[in-house]
Amino acid sequence: MIDDLYRARTPRSAALYARASRVLPAGLTHDSRATSPYPIYAARAAGARKWDVDGNEYVDYFGGHGALLFGHAHAPLVEAIQRQATLGTHWGASHELEVQWAELVQRLVPSAERVRFTASGTEATQLALRLARAYTGGSKIVRFVGHFHGWHDAVAAGAMSHYDGSIPAGIPAAVVGESIVLSADAPGPAVDVLESRDDIAAVIVEPSGASWGQVPLPAGFLAALRAATKARGVPLIFDEVITGFRWSRGGAQARYGIVPDVTVLAKILAGGLPGGAVAGAREILDQIDPVAAKAAGREKVGHQGTFNANPLCAAAGVTMLSLVEQTDACERAQATAEELRAGMRRVLVEEGMPWGVFGQASVFVIFPNPARLPIDPANFDPLKLGFKGLKGGRDPQLNNKLRIALLAHGVDIAGGPGGFVSAAHGPREIAQTLDAWRSAVRAMKSELR
Ligand code: PMP
Repeated sequence: MIDDLYRARTPRSAALYARASRVLPAGLTHDSRATSPYPIYAARAAGARKWDVDGNEYVDYFGGHGALLFGHAHAPLVEAIQRQATLGTHWGASHELEVQWAELVQRLVPSAERVRFTASGTEATQLALRLARAYTGGSKIVRFVGHFHGWHDAVAAGAMSHYDGSIPAGIPAAVVGESIVLSADAPGPAVDVLESRDDIAAVIVEPSGASWGQVPLPAGFLAALRAATKARGVPLIFDEVITGFRWSRGGAQARYGIVPDVTVLAKILAGGLPGGAVAGAREILDQIDPVAAKAAGREKVGHQGTFNANPLCAAAGVTMLSLVEQTDACERAQATAEELRAGMRRVLVEEGMPWGVFGQASVFVIFPNPARLPIDPANFDPLKLGFKGLKGGRDPQLNNKLRIALLAHGVDIAGGPGGFVSAAHGPREIAQTLDAWRSAVRAMKSELR
């Protein structure tokens, strides 16, 4: 049994979870780390691998929630962080690193005429929406079902739950009412809303499709959004928290050749430490500048934050983005991911398992077919299923079982289910992952029967 094998390998994690459950709600610090019967407790990590408190080794595809393009404890990043720690972690002053960091963002990201740093991706989407509302005078935000933009109130409904437009616990109904949450299975609904209404402040989208491409966008979707927003003067916001510096050096916008007005960044941006940024058109970002705002006849938009561009995160960010600029890390991670996706598909075909494996750039997504549709793994097309088929009918227990089965065979994936491939992953990791994948698929087959 998958569960028994997992439990037998992880007694120290079990004990830590029991302890955690007496102080942390659900025993956790992030909803996405929920794992039944209990999560693994990590002890250290290096490159593409991590180890738990029982000494088990894992090929890691959780990838710091997507933040680690070079894998764990990459030497240049460790050195930059160590060096900066001795010089001070918060100077309460402007500093050269924040300028360098912003210049790198400006060079790499096409929309980045101006950059403002925040402490997380959640804060960055919040600032982006504030700037868009101030700029347009509108209040309504067009979002897409299942597209995740952080955990703040304005973007909560319809992202991880409440896909039917109902109101999540703790979120004011009035705030939910400020979002128009549309299907992204086709561009029509969004284009219609933009053409027919005058109160739209912004359109925000994950350019990969929902949750790093777990639900890919149909061809032409982003171009249609770009054209419709431009025609109406509504800022288009790309949430590139995942895709930034991963889909390509310049993110999804550079890869697809579609430039938004505003880009939200985090994760890889800050080199494995906390950090976010809003990068966009000068006119929109300069509302933060009191002189520019006054000259434009506008009120200044406020923005604070104790840890914005603190020297420690800035040092890591500068090193990370310099490496992104100077190396072929994005391409290498993507090539490895392509090989991995092809290998995983091959195993599904060989094992006669009617599941799908897909994904863009350096991520992979597993579709474990909860409704038991007649799927040919060699030719699986996620677009045919749309949001409802791919994510709407998600079976958390099935996803959890697969995750546990892989953990029991030395591979850690993210709950999606799927994962992030780094430039530190290579042929050895692929071979090991495919062996584990075959064992997990076989175990799942026998337990699903
Ligand atoms: N947007 C997207 C697309 C994300 O994936 C995430 C985090 N997973 C966020 C925003 C929020 O970022 P953070 O966790 O840094 O607040």
